[in-house]
Amino acid sequence: MSFASLGLSEPIVRAVSERGYTIPTPIQAQAIPAVLSGGDLLAGAQTGTGKTAGFTLPILQRLSTTSASRPGAIRALVLTPTRELAAQVEESVREYGKYLDLKSIVIFGGVSINPQISALRRGVDILVATPGRLLDHVQQKTVDLSQVEILILDEADRMLDMGFIRDIKKVLALLPKKRQNLLFSATFSDEIKTLADGLLNKPSMIEV
Ligand code: AMP
Repeated sequence: MSFASLGLSEPIVRAVSERGYTIPTPIQAQAIPAVLSGGDLLAGAQTGTGKTAGFTLPILQRLSTTSASRPGAIRALVLTPTRELAAQVEESVREYGKYLDLKSIVIFGGVSINPQISALRRGVDILVATPGRLLDHVQQKTVDLSQVEILILDEADRMLDMGFIRDIKKVLALLPKKRQNLLFSATFSDEIKTLADGLLNKPSMIEV
């Protein structure tokens, strides 16, 4: 199986092959077509399975083949538990999207907020963020989530373990009702199941 046969476009396949990947991992083989179909997804995947490309590649594809309802609007929002993961995910988005005309930025706490505000002002298609700092921006009205088309919760179990459930719920309340939701988690506690039940609409389910 190849990345092209999963339905990814040439600029994305080119970036992936330059990264040195030739064969999709099992999570990628299942998640990529599921996300491209536009439906919600519940994926059980540990770190190291290739889950990051599993959601970044199809998101890039979906955003690059349709246009923003408003120029400069945030169209995809990825929430992660830690700044390290946020930085890593945004780096992947940047690399796999290098032949596309989409902008991404990462925002997390513990660093100055001002450069993030300037970056947000310049317009962004894909925002990768940790929940706390994202809500700081919401409070300061420096971020507008009203045009988000795709929401991704990465390592959702770790976000709950770190006590982010209230922050996540506050963010969810700011998103348009009609959107695509992807939830990635390594484990499935009752708390995750409750979150998934409330968030996802007839999701495809993948477990690797
Ligand atoms: P992740 O689970 O997303 O953190 O990815 C784990 C590691 O696998 C990362 O170092 C990726 O660069 C690598 N990787 C992801 N997809 C592939 C692939 N299709 N072929 C080879 N390596 C991959």
